Parts: sequence; structure tokens; C-alpha cells
Amino acid sequence: MSNSSSSKEIKDSNEKLQVIINHIQDIIIESELNGIFTYVSPQAYDILGYKPEEVIGLNGFKFIHPEDLPKLTSKFTNLIKSGGPVQVEYRALHKDGHYVYLSAKGTIVKQNGNIKLIAVLRDITRERETEQKYELLAGNINDIIWTNDLNTNTTYVSPSIKNILGYTVEEDIARPITEKFTPESLKKIGKLIKNHITPKNIKDRNYNPVLRLELEQYHKNGSIIPCEVTVNPMRNEKGIAFGLVGITRTITKRKEAEQKLKESEQKYRSLFESSPNAVGLINTKGIVIQGNSNIEKIFGYKKEEFVGQNFRKFPLFSKEHSAIVFNNLNKLIKGEIPEPQELKLHKKDGSVIWVSMIASIVRLKKETLFQIITQDISKIKNAEKILKEQNKELQEVSNLKTEFLSRASHELKTPLATINGYAELIKLKDEKLNQDQLKMIEGIQKGCVRLEGIIHKLIESSKLETSKIELHTKEEDLSLLIKLCVNEVKSLAKTREIDINLGIANLILTKFNEDQIYEVISNLLSNAIKYSPHNTIINIKSEIKDTSIIISIKDRGIGFTEDEKITIFNKFGKIARESSGFHVFSEGSGLGLYISKKIVELHDGKMWFESEGRNKGSTFYFSLPII
Ligand code: ADP
Repeated sequence: MSNSSSSKEIKDSNEKLQVIINHIQDIIIESELNGIFTYVSPQAYDILGYKPEEVIGLNGFKFIHPEDLPKLTSKFTNLIKSGGPVQVEYRALHKDGHYVYLSAKGTIVKQNGNIKLIAVLRDITRERETEQKYELLAGNINDIIWTNDLNTNTTYVSPSIKNILGYTVEEDIARPITEKFTPESLKKIGKLIKNHITPKNIKDRNYNPVLRLELEQYHKNGSIIPCEVTVNPMRNEKGIAFGLVGITRTITKRKEAEQKLKESEQKYRSLFESSPNAVGLINTKGIVIQGNSNIEKIFGYKKEEFVGQNFRKFPLFSKEHSAIVFNNLNKLIKGEIPEPQELKLHKKDGSVIWVSMIASIVRLKKETLFQIITQDISKIKNAEKILKEQNKELQEVSNLKTEFLSRASHELKTPLATINGYAELIKLKDEKLNQDQLKMIEGIQKGCVRLEGIIHKLIESSKLETSKIELHTKEEDLSLLIKLCVNEVKSLAKTREIDINLGIANLILTKFNEDQIYEVISNLLSNAIKYSPHNTIINIKSEIKDTSIIISIKDRGIGFTEDEKITIFNKFGKIARESSGFHVFSEGSGLGLYISKKIVELHDGKMWFESEGRNKGSTFYFSLPII
């Protein structure tokens, strides 16, 4: 009876056990010490995808994640030594290939003389994955999240510390606070603890201030990282503070920007002080905020007399000039940029100087200010005045000279005509003149012609200078005019056996003053002949470029050295080449090219020349706009 009742009890308790096993969510396993499963509860199917009969008889170690094996075997050895219970977390392989996080609690039991392991395996995948996601998040953020106990020991720090301060989580937790912060920051932390972590505050569940500190932390590489730290107390369910939770954010960029601002402010200050001008800052109401040391030198008022006062109060300018100053400030407010102004400044001692004033807007500490730079330009003004007077005198002298030349030339014309006239008369009337006498009279007449030419050029050039010339232009054929000129110099060319090659367009219609352009072409042509040796060629060409017609006259003559090139278009720019060994003319007045260039320019054209050097010939060009 007792036997059957005891076996019944056993049966009952086995059934109860079975019910319990079936109703819990954990897997219960029993295994030999070598790891072979002898029992596996049905939850193995829900958690690991295996039916118990599939795994009973297999070695449990087969299902462990390789990375977790060392941990597990060491725990297992512990368990055998101590008998348990021992707890371990590891990953086990699910039938479909993924890993499941398990928390296992195992004990060694003796059954009928057999030593066995009994363990309860709980699925903790969801918790672990959530944690992992959080870790991942905390590792990637740019802030460090941490918790401390009340003795400044770190209890948790997010993996993001590695990116920000170079330390791993383990390294950071192991370091004492004194190694983490600069001495200055440690002082700040000490003060914070003293003021806030008081026994009273620790107990007061309503005392939850958000504390903010700017601290400097050491990076693993030794550099100092400026951070902003926000701290909050952590309280247990009884409301007692047991630690602090904080967020550390690096503010390197902000600090750098602040530093740059500081530097640029310093730069501005040094420019402000070292400027040779008076520099003042006034606010939009006209109150002088600052001034540099040159204020006194230029305005006569001490800097201190200005600062704090309204700028308008000082009788610095006449009404008219004050209006200019304030008009400029108004322009600045409207966003326009005013020009520097030249003003008459009344200094404190009553003296008046000329200044140049320029105003601009500067923003200092978020305030809009006018920066006014004042330069003493009295010396420049005086120099300008002197120069103006000198220029006036020079102009007068130049006018006088032109007037004289023009008058003298006109005066010369009459006696010259008389000389020429009488010479002609002698030739006609006196038949008894012998050959020598006739030659002499012809000499007089030749001289008259030359002198006439020079006088004509002198009159022409003085007309051009005093702009007395009126340009009457007509649409004409330049080609025809060139041909006419060539014809006229043919006899001169013949005396030097020079060939003139014409390579110009048949019809070149432009607008010009025929007499004047005739003079230009004849001058260039006769120069080309005069300054070329015998038996050479002159080429005349026309070319259209953009909106101009360009005429070129190329000779194989004496050419120009670099020095000679400089003066050629000057008035009286005659170059003496008697010693050149070349048989060239030497009787010119040095006015021809000067006049020619002026005429071409009056026609909105250009004149220039090229020469590769002495005896290498030269090419003269002039251009006229085409219609
Ligand atoms: P000039 O009446 O003396 O010829 P220009 O003004 O016409 O005056 O010329 C100035 C100087 O330029 C001349 O004295 C001459 O030496 C030089 N010159 C002008 N044309 C040529 C040329 N085609 N080849 C070489 N020299 C020239």
C-alpha cells in the first residue's frame, strides 16, 4: 500500500513536473557531462526549431556559436567543480541557421549514481537585439552618453567615446576622473558636486536640475577636446539619487569659430590702432563708441572728448559738408556704398584742414556701427593746387609758343612770297643773266619752296594743337587718292630709281577729308622714298580688319633703331642720320609724322609703324574706320 502510494506520489509529482515543464517558456535540458543531451523539453521546438527527439543523443556543444564556445567551456568546467548553479549567456544555432541568444542557468545533479547537468535555457534574443541596436546608436552618435555613481566612477559609457575621445568603453570605465579632465575642468566638476550633490539634494526626489558645464577632456592622443556636458541626477524608486546620467558633446567647431572671431576682432583692433588715419566707431544714433589715437591729431579733440558724445554736437563741418556726411550715413543704412568725400574740417583750435572721409558699416557684438575713417589730405590738396597753378602756367606758355609760331609763320609767308616773286621777276625780265646767275636765282627759289613747305607744316601743326581744325569729311574712294599720291611722287622716286608696287583694293570707300589724308599719304610716301637707298622697292597694301581699313607702306630703307623709335611721332621729331653712311635726305622739319598722326587720329583712326632695326626697312601703317 505504502509502496503503491509512494509510487503514486512519484507518478503524481512526475505528472506535475511534466505540467510545469510544458507550461513554462524556457527550455529545460538534461545532459551528460560530455554534453550529450539525455532530455530536452518541447520548448526547444519554439525557441530553436528542433523537436526534442531530433536532438536527444546529440552533443549540445554542436549548437553553440564558435565565438561563445571558450566562455561556455570555462563556465562548464566551473560548474563541474562547484556543482553550480552557474549562469551563462551564449548564442545557440536555430534549425533554420540563425543564432538565438540564450541565458542558461545550470546545476549538477546526481541521479541514480549518474552525474548529470540540468539547465534552464531562456530566450533573451529580443533584449539583446534591442541592446545592440541601442549600442549601435550610441556608438554612432556624436555625443557620449554616460552614467556615473555618486563617487564619480563611470558605470556606463556609450561606445561613441571611441570616435570622440579615442578611448574604448573598457578603457574609459577603468580610468579615474582625474585622468579624464584638465585641472581647470576638474575644479568646475568639484564645484558642481559640492553645490548640487548634497545629502539633502540626494534625498529630495524633486531636485532634478539639468546642469550644464563647459569642460575640457583629454583625448587618448593627448590633445584637449572642449566639450559641453549636460548632467542629470538618476534616482531609484524611493527617489534617492544613486548616480548621474550625462551627455557629453564636443564643441571643438564652436570653440574654433569663437577663436577665429576673437582673432579677427584682435586683427581689427590692431588695424584700428595702427591706422595712420583717424578711425572712429559711432552707433546709429550718432554716439561715438570708440576712436583711435589719431583722432586728436586730425580733429584736435581728445579721444575722450568724443567718446560717449553725439557726433553731431561738434562743430566740425559747415552746414553743407555736415549734410554730405549724414547723407552718406543714410546711404549706408539703405545698403548703398557711399564714395569717399573730401571735406573741409574745422579743428578744435579753429584751423581748417582738408580731409577725406569714408564710412562703412561694421557689426561688433551684434551691434551695427558706422566706421568712419578720416584722412588728412591737406598736403595732397596743397600739392594739387600748386600743380594746377603750374599746369595753368605751362598751358599759358604753351599757348604763347603756339600763338607765336602761328603768327611768325604767317608773318614769314609774306616776305617769302616777295622774295620768290622778285626772284621770278629777275628771271623773266633780265635776259642778260648768265648761267651762274640763273642757277643762283633758282637756288633762291628752291629755298623759298622748302621754306614754304616748312611754314605750311608749322601752321598746320599749330592749328591741330589749338584744335582750330574743323574736320569736313566726305565719302570718298581712298584707293583713288592713294593712286593720285603715287603718281605725284613718281618723279621723286625716279630720281632714286625706286619702284612703287601698288597692292590695294580697287575701291575703298571711307569718309575722310581729302586734303588732310592726301597730306598723310604723300608724307608717308615721300618719307619712304627719302629714307630708302637707290634701286629698292616700296610696297603699298590695303587690308580690311574688323571695322577698319589698314593702309601699309613698306620700304627697304634705313629703318629705325630702338632708340629712334621713341621720338618719331614727336613734334620736331627729326632724326639726324648724316653719319649713317646712307645717302638719305636730311632737310626735313620733323613735323611730317607728327601732323600725319594727328590727322589720322582726328579721323578716329590710328597710325603706327614697325622696323626691325637699322637698314632693315620700315613699314608705316594707318587705319581709318570703314563705312
Ligand atoms: P621729316 O620732315 O624730317 O621727314 P617726319 O616727321 O616725316 O619729318 O619724320 C621724322 C623722322 O623720322 C625723319 O627725320 C626721319 O629720320 C625718320 N623717318 C620718317 N620716315 C622714315 C622712313 N620711312 N624710314 C626711315 N626713317 C624715317
